[in-house]
Amino acid sequence: MKTGLAHLYIPGPTNVPEAVRRAMAVPMQDHRAADFGILTAAVTEGMKPVLGTTKGHVALFPGSGTGCWEAAICNTLNSGDKVLMARHGHFSHLWAEMARKLQLDPVIVDVAWGAGVPVNEFARILGADRRGEIKAVFVTHNETATGVTSDVAAVRAALDSAFHDALLFVDGVSSIGSIPFRMDDWGVDMAVTGSQKGLMSPAGLGILGVSPKALQACETARMPRAFFDLKDMLRAHEAGSFPYTPPAPLLHGLRAALARMQEEGLDTVYARHRRLANGVRRAVAAWGLEICAEHPLLQSDTVTAIRTPAHVDAREVIRIAYDRYNCSLGSGLGPLAGKVFRIGHLGDLNEGMCLTAIALAELALVEAGAEITLGSGVAAAQAAFVRPVARQSAAA
Ligand code: PLP
Repeated sequence: MKTGLAHLYIPGPTNVPEAVRRAMAVPMQDHRAADFGILTAAVTEGMKPVLGTTKGHVALFPGSGTGCWEAAICNTLNSGDKVLMARHGHFSHLWAEMARKLQLDPVIVDVAWGAGVPVNEFARILGADRRGEIKAVFVTHNETATGVTSDVAAVRAALDSAFHDALLFVDGVSSIGSIPFRMDDWGVDMAVTGSQKGLMSPAGLGILGVSPKALQACETARMPRAFFDLKDMLRAHEAGSFPYTPPAPLLHGLRAALARMQEEGLDTVYARHRRLANGVRRAVAAWGLEICAEHPLLQSDTVTAIRTPAHVDAREVIRIAYDRYNCSLGSGLGPLAGKVFRIGHLGDLNEGMCLTAIALAELALVEAGAEITLGSGVAAAQAAFVRPVARQSAAA
C-alpha cells in the first residue's frame, strides 16, 4: 500500500491546485443556455494573454494536444501538401508521423535528440523553395522528450528573410503557460496546447490559437474534417457554446487556473519556472550527470531530461522512485528509453516540491547503482534557491 502524498513530477499531467479542483466540483449544467457563454468567453479570452495574442482566435476542442495537432493540419492544408518539420524527439516524431498519416508530404529534417529546431537548415530549405511548395512549417517549441526549447522567433525570421508565405504551426503543449509564448510577435498561425501541463488542469481540452491568416487558409483547405472543424467551433464559441457537448467542469477548472495565473502575473509565473528549472539543473550538475539538451541555451524551463550513467538503467530509477517512494518521474521515450529519466517542473510548483523531486530522484539513483553523494543535488538546488531576506533596520 502506498501511504502519504503521491509525488507527481512527470511533465504532464501536472499537479492540479486545490482551487482548480474545487472549481470543477459543479453540478452539470445546460451548455445551450445563454449564460454558458460567460464561461466559454472567460476561457477563450483568458487564454489570449497566455498565448500572446490579441489578433488571434482561440478554439477549445474536447480532446488533447494530439487532437489539436490534427485540427491545425486538417483545417488549413490539402492532402499532398509539402510541409517542413524537424524531428528531434518523441513528440516532433509523432507529429511528423501524423502528417504522413494525414497524407501530407513532410520534408523532415532529422537532428540529434537533444538538439533544437535546425533554424539554419530550415532557412536554407525555405530559401530554395522558390515555387512556394512548402505550405506549412511545424515547430515543437518545447520538446518534452528531451527537455529542449527551440527558438520560434528565429524560425519566423527564417520565413521572413526567405519571403516565404508558409503557415507557421507551433506545438506549445509543454511551453504555453510556463514560458513566454508570443503568438502575434512570432507570427504563429496555429498554436497548439492542452489543458494538463502549464495550465494546471486535468487533461481533456485541446486548445488552439488561430491567426487570421490560418483562418483564411480554412477557406481553401479541402482536407476532410468533422469533429475538428475549426470554423464550426469558432462559430459556436462566438455564440457562447460548442457544436457538441463540452466538458463543462474542465472549463470551470481552466477558468480558475487562468485566474490564478493572472493573479500571480504571467511574468512572475515565467520567472518562477526559470528559477525552479535552474535549481533542478544545478542538482543534475552536482550529481555529475548530463542533461539531454545539447546546449545550455536549449535547456527547457519546464522539463529536464537527465542521462543516467552507462551502467544504470533509467527505467530502474523510475521504477524504484515509484514503487518505494510514491514518486512519478518521466520516462525516456523512444530511443531514450532506459537512458534518460525526466523531471517535470511546470505548473503549480514551488521550491519545496522541486526539492522533493530532487531528493527522491537522488535516492532512486543511488539505489539503482549510481555513484552519487546523497544530498548533493538537494544542497545544490537549495543553493540556487536561497534568497537573502531583507532585514528591517533597528531604527525603524
Ligand atoms: N506535444 C508535446 C510537446 C507533448 O509533450 C505532448 C504530450 O506530452 C503532446 C504533444 C501530446 O499531447 P497530448 O498528450 O495532450 O495529446
